[in-house]
Amino acid sequence: MPDAEIIAIGSELLTPQRLDTNSLYLTDQLNALGVEVVRKTVVGDERERLTDSILGAMARSQIVVLTGGLGPTEDDLTRDAVASALGRTLVFDQQICDQIEARFRSFGRKMSEINRRQAYLVSGAEVLVNDRGTAPGQWIDHSGVVLMLLPGPPNELKAMFEHQCLPRLGKVLPAQAIRTRHLRCVGIPESDLDQLISPVYKQYPSVATTILAVSGEIHVHLRARCPNANDAEALVAEVAGRIEPLIGDRIYSRNGDSLEKVIGDLLRSRHATLSVAESATGGLLGGRITAVPSASDYFVGGFVTYSDEMKTKLLGVPAEMIAGHTAVSEPVAQAMAEGARARTGADYALSITGYAGPDGEKIGLMFIGLATPDGSEARRVQLPGDRERVRMFSTNTALDLLRRKLLAAPGK
Ligand code: AMP
Ligand code: MG
Repeated sequence: MPDAEIIAIGSELLTPQRLDTNSLYLTDQLNALGVEVVRKTVVGDERERLTDSILGAMARSQIVVLTGGLGPTEDDLTRDAVASALGRTLVFDQQICDQIEARFRSFGRKMSEINRRQAYLVSGAEVLVNDRGTAPGQWIDHSGVVLMLLPGPPNELKAMFEHQCLPRLGKVLPAQAIRTRHLRCVGIPESDLDQLISPVYKQYPSVATTILAVSGEIHVHLRARCPNANDAEALVAEVAGRIEPLIGDRIYSRNGDSLEKVIGDLLRSRHATLSVAESATGGLLGGRITAVPSASDYFVGGFVTYSDEMKTKLLGVPAEMIAGHTAVSEPVAQAMAEGARARTGADYALSITGYAGPDGEKIGLMFIGLATPDGSEARRVQLPGDRERVRMFSTNTALDLLRRKLLAAPGK
C-alpha cells in the first residue's frame, strides 16, 4: 500500500496567525482509503525550499498531496516548483484561461492579466476542475509517484478532493482498509498503563498502537491495516479483546465519548439527577457537564462557593468546621457535597475544593466530595501540574468518582 505525504504551502502557515487545517482533512480522507500519511511539511512561499520539499517527498512516498500556492500572484509558486522538481515545462492552456475568464464574467468582473498564471499546467498533468474558485488543480503521475496540486482555500480543496481526487485514487490504489479502536481511560498514569498492555501490543507489530495523555486522561489508539475490512476489523478486535481486560473499568469509553457524556448517559439510564458545588474549579465541572447536549435531563444546577462565607451561606457547611479543618479538607468537601444534594434535591452531588496554585505549599492538593442516596464520602488527591491542569484534572477525578459509583448503583 502506498504511503502519502502532505505539503502545505504558504508563508502565512508559518506564522502564529494561521494554522494548516487542510492536512487534517486530507489525512482523514486518505486514512479512510487505507493510506497512511507518514509525513507532513509546512513550507513558505519560497521556490527553492518548496522544490526541495517536493523532491524529498517524492523520494520517500508514492503519493504527494500539495495544498496552496495555486493563486495568481507572484508568491504562488507551486506550479513552478513542481515543474522544476520533475524537470518538466509549464504549458499555457487556452481552455483553462477561457474558463477562468468566463468565471469572472459570470460575476460581472473582468479577468486580470495576472490570472493567466493560473492557466499554466505542468506538462502531462491532468486538470482537476475547481467549481468553487479560479485555480484548477492538477493530477500528475510521475514514474509511479502521484502528485496532487490542490488549492489552499479549504472549501475549494475539499470539493476538489472529493469530486476529482477520490475517484482517481480509487483506480490506482489496491483495496485496503484501516480499522481503529479508541479506548479512553482515567485513573491510571500513562507509564503504568503502557507497562500493563505493552506485552500484548508488542505481539502485534502490524497493529499500530499509540498511547496518548490528553488533559489528565489516557487514550489508547489501535489501528490495523489489511487488504479487506473484515480482516482489519478482526485484527483490531483481537488486540482490543486482549488489552481491555487488563485495563478493566479504568476504560470509560470505547467510542470516543467524553467522560461527561458517559456520566450523563449513566445518570439518564438510572433516572438520577446531579448537582455540583465548586470552590477551586469555579464552575469548570458544571461547565463540562452542561457542555453535553440534553444535560438538563439529569443536571439540576450547582454552586460556585469560592469564599468560606459562601460555603456556609449557600451550602450550609458549618463555619466551625471550616475554622477547624480549613476550607480545603475532607470534611468540608463532604459537607459541600451533602449541602448541594440537600439544597437541590438531586440524587447525587459532587464537590471540589483545593489548592490550584500557582502560589503556596500545598498546590495540587484537592478534595473531591460525593453525596449519594446511600451516604457521602470525600477523597484526597494530590494532582500534578500548573493551575490549569490541576483544575482540569480535579474535574476528571470528580467525574470518575461519580462514574464508578453509578456503575455500582442499580437504577431507581
Ligand atoms: P493559496 O492557494 O496559497 O493562495 O491559499 C489561499 C488561502 O487558503 C490562504 O490565504 C489561506 O487562507 C487558505 N489556506 C492555504 N493553505 C491552507 C491550509 N493548509 N490550511 C488551511 N487554510 C489554508
Ligand atoms: Mg498562498
